[in-house]
Amino acid sequence: MRVLAFDDDAAVGRLVVRVATLAGMEATAVTEAEAFGQSLRTDPPQLVVLDLQLGDTDGVEQLRLLAKQHYSGAVVLMSGFDARVLGTARALGQSLGLKVVGALEKPVRIAQLEQMLELVQSVGQSLSAERLQKAIANNELLLEFQPIVSRQPKALKKLEALVRWQHPVLGRVPPGDFLPMAESDTTTMDALTEWVVGAAVDAYQALAKLGISVPLAVNVSAQNLHDLSLPDRLEQRLRAGGMPARHLCLELTETAAFENAAHTMDILSRMRLKGMELSIDDFGTGYSSLKMLRQMPFSEIKIDRSFVSDATTSRDSRAIVKSIIDLAANMEMACVAEGVETEETADLLEQLGVRDLQGYLIARPMPVAAIPTWLAIWMQGGSVTPRDQT
Ligand code: C2E
Ligand code: MG
Ligand code: MG
Repeated sequence: MRVLAFDDDAAVGRLVVRVATLAGMEATAVTEAEAFGQSLRTDPPQLVVLDLQLGDTDGVEQLRLLAKQHYSGAVVLMSGFDARVLGTARALGQSLGLKVVGALEKPVRIAQLEQMLELVQSVGQSLSAERLQKAIANNELLLEFQPIVSRQPKALKKLEALVRWQHPVLGRVPPGDFLPMAESDTTTMDALTEWVVGAAVDAYQALAKLGISVPLAVNVSAQNLHDLSLPDRLEQRLRAGGMPARHLCLELTETAAFENAAHTMDILSRMRLKGMELSIDDFGTGYSSLKMLRQMPFSEIKIDRSFVSDATTSRDSRAIVKSIIDLAANMEMACVAEGVETEETADLLEQLGVRDLQGYLIARPMPVAAIPTWLAIWMQGGSVTPRDQT
């Protein structure tokens, strides 16, 4: 593990380096913001140990910069100020999406530092497939829902379920941080998808009770397509929850795993025969999209965010978006644009012929309990979206 300490007091930095090195880690210490920024870029550490009082800058400012750079490693804060400031800074870091795993009061004692490093190491190991399976069993996962809407006529078309891991030490972990690990292990991926579908059906029921009957989209990994009984299991779960099959849309990202074409065709066809919708997610970014589109029974194309986000500024992206929209229309498939962040983009997409939009402009992913209020405000023309919780 690589550790980077930033403290304007060189003695503290040296202490961190010594303790970390003794624990078998690779450690460096810097005393200035410039050197800190440079080390982060050239040799990203797995752990940053950050002092709050830093002379020319301060720890809070550095936390903001770390978040801006999407630093994905762990952070330990240190401060000789009062414990409450340390607590607030920790909460702030976590709300910025950083993995602030601990706070040390100064003067830092060696035993404490050792403990902290040990904790960080165990947490690093704890983002394992095995630990994820435990998280599923312990109910540490949760779903947020992001609306897919049409503006003319104004309607909520669907809600996409997006999984998050509420880790006891790391806080909220986004799917991008743990899905790759689940992808490498079929048992874990199956358990995850089963949990997600179950939780989505529960949410569907909760909304139906409030008079909101809306189809849900659930992401399914190509890893899940090894088991021919998947369509039957999905159908059973839907029946048990009183959710019509046509209200479940499965979003698949195309990956190399689709290479077992016979298996995939078997499973996907049976999902469709049972009435479920099937969407090809992140269209245009994976493998052999067009071949997939011809071979597999998709009912919807989701245009990848990367084309949508610069459609207003890049002629090429605009041409790609337009072609995908036409392709969907010609193949009699539905079409959704994801990653719509600005009014300008939404207007352009509508001009180009796609009505179903998803993105921060409409709403960020939110807990199911927030949907009714969001919907009421949005239907009345308000643009208030609940605070980003991702
Ligand atoms: P996705 O299915 O393409 O989902 C859309 C992602 O884009 C979500 O990220 C969402 O929060 C984000 N997003 C939505 N609108 C905007 C926007 O306007 N701007 C920007 N910059 N981003 C936007 P999230 O929740 O981090 O999920 C990332 C990916 O993880 C998903 O991409 C999906 O492939 C995967 N994923 C999420 N939940 C699940 C799940 O339950 N099972 C599986 N297998 N994969 C999942
Ligand atoms: Mg998706
Ligand atoms: Mg997508």
